[in-house]
Amino acid sequence: MKDGIDISELAQHIRKGGRAALGRAITLVESNRPDHERDAQALLAELLAYTGQAIRLGLTGVPGAGKSTTIDTLGSTLTGQGHKVAVLAVDPTSQRTGGSILGDKTRMARLAVDRNAFIRPSPAGATLGGVARRTRETMLLCEAAGYDIIIVETVGIGQSEVTVAGMVDFFAVLMVAGAGDELQGIKKGVLELADLIAVNKADGDNIRRAERAAGELRQAMHILTPPDPNWTPRVITMSGLHNTGLDELWGAVMEHHDTLTASGALAEKRREQQVRWMWTLLDDRLQQIVRRHPDISARLETLTEQVRAGTLTATNAVNQIICALGLV
Ligand code: GDP
Repeated sequence: MKDGIDISELAQHIRKGGRAALGRAITLVESNRPDHERDAQALLAELLAYTGQAIRLGLTGVPGAGKSTTIDTLGSTLTGQGHKVAVLAVDPTSQRTGGSILGDKTRMARLAVDRNAFIRPSPAGATLGGVARRTRETMLLCEAAGYDIIIVETVGIGQSEVTVAGMVDFFAVLMVAGAGDELQGIKKGVLELADLIAVNKADGDNIRRAERAAGELRQAMHILTPPDPNWTPRVITMSGLHNTGLDELWGAVMEHHDTLTASGALAEKRREQQVRWMWTLLDDRLQQIVRRHPDISARLETLTEQVRAGTLTATNAVNQIICALGLV
């Protein structure tokens, strides 16, 4: 027992669905203090057997695409059907901007007051890796607390879409048809990650435009290799605001879940995600060790400058660092 934290007791409270206990556990997971980190890992070890039961859905879209409106509507429908829904956010800029837009409770008015929903803004963290670790671990805590649907939202900043796609079962991209018929917010690479693309705001005057855009997207998707050989990506139109097409969105998520569960592909996907995650963590940790190493950290700047100036090759710089670490 440290700081009055009894890990087993906390684990029990979480499993009973205690919101305060869950909040406390997430605070541990998000903390940088070494003793908190140890407690968090002990807690996760205790809860691991009770994780993995949820459907994990990732959702991306540029600001204004309608993520929070969609999550509010979809989430409320799902809690109305008896599900428990957790909404997490991945925003690597949350530290720089001093607050996260994503996962802000005020953006999801209905879910914010729903007893069967839990909303957590993006953890602060300098690196995407740091944010990703905290979000993954928070996801496990929510699963142990009985949340059977986890929605992870992100905006497409840097690699955040790849990161979120790597921690969920199903990755959905929200788009909006622009003033012309062009699609806003298409980013190179994001189509390759999508299990589903939803052209949102297909309501009022915008319906035909959205449908044309969806048609074009279907053609574009046709020539791409799907991210998952077991699933052909869908393109739908919907309106998060007017709650049309969300049944199709959720229907696709369920169909994907059922198909991939039956074939064993979902379990395999999650295993692969874990392994890739292990390597990512190892990369991050090794970089941390290098940057904090007393002998090396002082030399890093010089080495970086030499590489920048072209007086030292990148390979040589890495060799010097590895030698200094005594690894070879
Ligand atoms: P986010 O930044 O992606 O979370 O987007 P929001 O959900 O906050 O939506 C941005 C704006 O678009 C708000 O003014 C919403 O009311 C509006 N909006 C969201 N979804 C729809 C929709 O389906 N149809 C229409 N017409 N407006 C929408």
